[in-house]
Amino acid sequence: MDLDLVFLGTSGSVPTAKRGLAGTLLRRGGERILVDCGEGTQRQLLRSSVGLVELPEIFLTHYHADHYLGLPGMLKTFALRGREVPLTVYGPPGLNNLFGILRRVFGRLSYELTLVELQPGESVAREDYRIEAFAVEHGVSANGYAVVEEARPGRFDLEEAKRLGIPEGPLFGRLQGGEPVEVPGGTAVKPEQVLGPARPGRKVVLAGDTRAAGSVLEASKDADVLVHEATFSVEERERAEETLHATATSAAELALAAGVRLLALTHLSNRYFGPEIVREARTVFPETVVPKDFDIIDVRFPERGGPRLVKGGALGRHEEGEPHGKDGSGDHGERPRGGGGDPDDPALRGDPVGARVGRRDASDGAR
Ligand SMILES: [Zn+2]
Ligand SMILES: [Zn+2]
Repeated sequence: MDLDLVFLGTSGSVPTAKRGLAGTLLRRGGERILVDCGEGTQRQLLRSSVGLVELPEIFLTHYHADHYLGLPGMLKTFALRGREVPLTVYGPPGLNNLFGILRRVFGRLSYELTLVELQPGESVAREDYRIEAFAVEHGVSANGYAVVEEARPGRFDLEEAKRLGIPEGPLFGRLQGGEPVEVPGGTAVKPEQVLGPARPGRKVVLAGDTRAAGSVLEASKDADVLVHEATFSVEERERAEETLHATATSAAELALAAGVRLLALTHLSNRYFGPEIVREARTVFPETVVPKDFDIIDVRFPERGGPRLVKGGALGRHEEGEPHGKDGSGDHGERPRGGGGDPDDPALRGDPVGARVGRRDASDGAR
């Protein structure tokens, strides 16, 4: 089953020319789950190869404006298109309150809208996976979400099955489904005789805004992918502490302690471009990437190579080759460079420190 993450917005608090506000689309088989919906998310979807599909579910991590302001516009667009597919929005306590205000903005909808408040510790169960809400530390009502697949059956030992005299056909399927069978001749065969040990499913964790917290570490144990914020670099650790955000270093230390396979850092303050954040994190945890908008993380099973960053993997065809000039986003035709964020950002060609001068940092407060 295919599982991936599409990064639609990777900036924290305010957008930049290159990075939109929080929005990550999780795709699993034919399912589409949007996590956070910052301002501009519907247009990011339109620009992407995904398109503005009729998302059935949206999960919000918390109610700072950079994580939900895209919702009223998107809900309105769906209504103008005459959408009939119902939509469910999940979020931490406070969701009903928020919609008390938002409803006045988006007005009547053409489809059914359901709101579900999730306390940390609650989960949404699906046929073969679940979405767990877990506590984070951001100073407001907030959830992180862990998408956890059920264990997969072990490998089927064909040789052993033949040796036991099991004829190919429906009996194989029943054994794989965990059912004992009787082979012609009357011998009983238990599934464990032909199946290897169960193999774990995949786990993808989206922590949302938080400082590096024990509860996030707990929820991220052995995750295939941890998407964690890194609003600041370590030189701003006091700011990070005050505003309950993480630094690249603290997120990397958490990823290391949790034993995750791949760390994806996002929600960068507009004073950073990416490379400095990825460099800092990799000194602690080498398996770190800083996705740009429209990058994809393909969450392959471990035996198929594990998770990997696909740079520009979700860029819409109409975006490619569009003349943007020197500072535009016409750089996405570049080959992957190892997930270093914005290595081609013209502003970094000179003096990355100097490039910050005059940029107002708008990451104030605990947004
Ligand atoms: Zn935020
Ligand atoms: Zn926030």
